[in-house]
Amino acid sequence: MKSVDLVDVEIERYDWAAMRCGCGASADHVVMDLRALVEGNGDPDTLWESLGDHLLPKGHILVEPTPAALSVSLAAVASGVTDPARTRLLDLVGAFVGDNLQVPGFDHRSLLDECQAAARRAMWIFYAEIFFGTSASAIYAAFELVDILEEDRVRLESVRKAARDRLPWQLRDAPDE
Ligand SMILES: [Zn+2]
Repeated sequence: MKSVDLVDVEIERYDWAAMRCGCGASADHVVMDLRALVEGNGDPDTLWESLGDHLLPKGHILVEPTPAALSVSLAAVASGVTDPARTRLLDLVGAFVGDNLQVPGFDHRSLLDECQAAARRAMWIFYAEIFFGTSASAIYAAFELVDILEEDRVRLESVRKAARDRLPWQLRDAPDE
């Protein structure tokens, strides 16, 4: 079974060569790193670190290909990649939607808004990871994502309660308001 077809579809939706990466080069090489991470070629931690350096230069600035990389990451998580890869892909998505980012306007687009909107459309992927995932670190990353993105806080707390035994202890109780 080739589980990366969905990823290819998503990759082909974007003109990577036309987008400028955080390193100043065209974003073609971002696709190579994403593919390597999805296909399990190379160390997931190293690839994740490299993707972060290019797509979030200085740790907090979103760049033009970041929303595209986020869509590819979501397609990959939905495609059933290995646990180490899905954990790092979810970590990447989390870095792209975090609210500690500095987001200069880009051609009148807000890249953070684009990233958050795309990730919100994928919310059920994160909930599925919380309830059916097999990796504690992927479950952790997925819960952090719904905590950032979920606008229905009642649903979030219901999920926290229902999935309590699957969550790491730090996430088992709602933070005091
Ligand atoms: Zn780059």
